[in-house]
Amino acid sequence: MKSITTLELQYAHRFYGFKGEAQYLHGHTGILSIEVEDSINMGVNMVYPCNEIKKIAWNILQNFDHALILREDDPILPMILKVYEEEGIKNGADTNQNIGPEFDSILAKAYPQSRLVVTKETMTTEGMIKIVYDLLKDKLNISKITFNSGENTASETYEPHNTIKRCPLCGVTLDSAGVCYKCGYGK
Ligand SMILES: [Zn+2]
Ligand SMILES: [Zn+2]
Repeated sequence: MKSITTLELQYAHRFYGFKGEAQYLHGHTGILSIEVEDSINMGVNMVYPCNEIKKIAWNILQNFDHALILREDDPILPMILKVYEEEGIKNGADTNQNIGPEFDSILAKAYPQSRLVVTKETMTTEGMIKIVYDLLKDKLNISKITFNSGENTASETYEPHNTIKRCPLCGVTLDSAGVCYKCGYGK
């Protein structure tokens, strides 16, 4: 059985070197759907609480929201950094509050203070799915990711591979000691 959650990410990007409209900077509201597959946790009669899937995903992916996503070799990147530096917002601003962890994976590096994500590959819908799976694969038993942005939608399926012990009272992941951070089960 599956539990499915959807979240929105608003971002700007461009396809550097692409011969088409997307070579120009533009923005989207991207819609990301994450499907988690596992047995039904009998205690709560669900696979995984959807609001918890969303919380785990958002914690990391908020770095993509109201962010600029550029490929590492895009010559716009140093120009943007120069402007942000001159405006004094490169290393943060009071109004910049969606600060996730500064992840640095093979596919993407986050600069949360500058609201920038620098990617190895062009950030197409397919590219975004690869990045999202890589960031979340150890935290959730993901069986499918779908990403929609404008007229483009891509999806990929996966074989869930984690053994995730879930709280029988509230459904969230138990820590290595078998304790639930949320409701205190196992203490
Ligand atoms: Zn686009
Ligand atoms: Zn619990």
